[in-house]
Amino acid sequence: MTSTPTLTFNDGHTIPQLGYGVWQVEDGVAEKVVRQAFEAGFRHIDTAKIYGNEAGVGRAVASSGLSAEDIFITTKLWNADQGYDTTLAAFEESLDRLGLQSLDLYLIHWMQPQQDKYVDTWKALIELQKRGRVRSIGVSNFTAEGLQRLIDESGVVPAIHQIELHPYFSQRELRDFGASKGILTQAWSPLGQGGELLEDATVTAIAAKHRATPAQVVIAWHLALGNVVIPKSVTESRIRENFAALEITLDDGDVQAINGLDRTARGEGRMGPDPAVSDFA
Ligand code: NAD
Repeated sequence: MTSTPTLTFNDGHTIPQLGYGVWQVEDGVAEKVVRQAFEAGFRHIDTAKIYGNEAGVGRAVASSGLSAEDIFITTKLWNADQGYDTTLAAFEESLDRLGLQSLDLYLIHWMQPQQDKYVDTWKALIELQKRGRVRSIGVSNFTAEGLQRLIDESGVVPAIHQIELHPYFSQRELRDFGASKGILTQAWSPLGQGGELLEDATVTAIAAKHRATPAQVVIAWHLALGNVVIPKSVTESRIRENFAALEITLDDGDVQAINGLDRTARGEGRMGPDPAVSDFA
């Protein structure tokens, strides 16, 4: 079976570059599909408290026969739990639901600028890391200014930044900013949630050239850029197909052509909320 490349965080720990995301997967379904992902070769699972499926992910881990050292689990602190003490408590509840003794990666799910608790929340993640409860800590859905504030006010640089990122919204500036600080970039909705992107003429032509599928080409593009990438599917054949993207290597021309699909300059491309202004409970 193909082994997944790993990337190294600024804290010295590593993360498998390709993982499996479980947003919008019901808890009762999560156990089955995460088991299928393990069988396909995935060893990195991305969940969150708000997905409501940490318990299902935990059951899949427990019944997989894999040891904790062989798998990498991420979960995320929900917005309503931001704040120092509330974060410490929410972390333990997530770990209980997952049935784990410690976690590989904990993320602040959204910056929530109006709430303005993210620095205190970040200090709680630093404390959890010091206590050995979580190996690596990072954030999701921040701005460059928010990342800089965390660094300035805590002295600790996030290991990773998980953001919306796909060929129509390629996040060049935030990727470059992260790289300049030693922060890895992780792509959410990496396939653009399926649909139009996977029928794009540029993507389908590159897929035909490599005898690959459009989803595999998009995943291979993320890998070529150095992104950590967490595609989601609840269809077993697609779960296997997405893992097999590791076998596809794009050439520079392919990568440039896909880079050219970015719609940011037109003010388009983003599918989810804008972290600079979004504030939701
Ligand atoms: P995605 O871009 O991974 O797209 C998933 C959809 O693409 C599937 O539902 C399916 O319709 C289609 N698809 C998947 N594989 C395919 C294939 N091989 N062929 C054809 N179609 C295929 O979208 P996503 O689920 O939004 O994002 C992936 C993960 O990112 C989530 O599950 C979650 O873990 C994470 N995420 C995080 C945040 C955040 O705020 N941090 C937000 C959204 C998603």
